[in-house]
Amino acid sequence: MTLFGPILRVLMRSFTRRIHAPDAIGVATGVPRCKLYIRREALQTYVLMARKYRNEVGFLCLGTRARYGRKLVLEVVHIDLVAEGSRAYVELPAREKARVIAARPELAVLGWAHTHPGFGVFWSGTDRENCRDFGENGVNLVFDPLSGELGVALGTRFVFRGPARQLARGGA
Ligand SMILES: [Zn+2]
Repeated sequence: MTLFGPILRVLMRSFTRRIHAPDAIGVATGVPRCKLYIRREALQTYVLMARKYRNEVGFLCLGTRARYGRKLVLEVVHIDLVAEGSRAYVELPAREKARVIAARPELAVLGWAHTHPGFGVFWSGTDRENCRDFGENGVNLVFDPLSGELGVALGTRFVFRGPARQLARGGA
């Protein structure tokens, strides 16, 4: 064994650390050269806020979208509450979205997040349309605060579906 391999690994690791926060949770996307990270704090905020409401609530996912050569790195840095809806419907009013976006001008809008209190993780027809607004690499989340099930999607394709605490423990 030469020293070259271990040295290269250390260099690669420090490079990778620099492009996302050390506490960010890595989510496998299944897409070559596309990395997705969610900051632990952002996920916790989303889950805690979701549990406070009996109605559906909607959020925006803010973060960074960076290209390193052919590699795309998405990192959700902040998930902020936009609006509360009714029992099974939530809308994100333009004015409220603008307020959330203006509060973190250094971050890009990556996608949206909402809740399905008591009815599980899936996309309704309206949800799909909303997801499409953020493009094929939009980071879109849905969480059921009653069951604790979380869905993380790129566009409308789920890349993680399971207990939120499973993702929080170490990534998928
Ligand atoms: Zn929905």
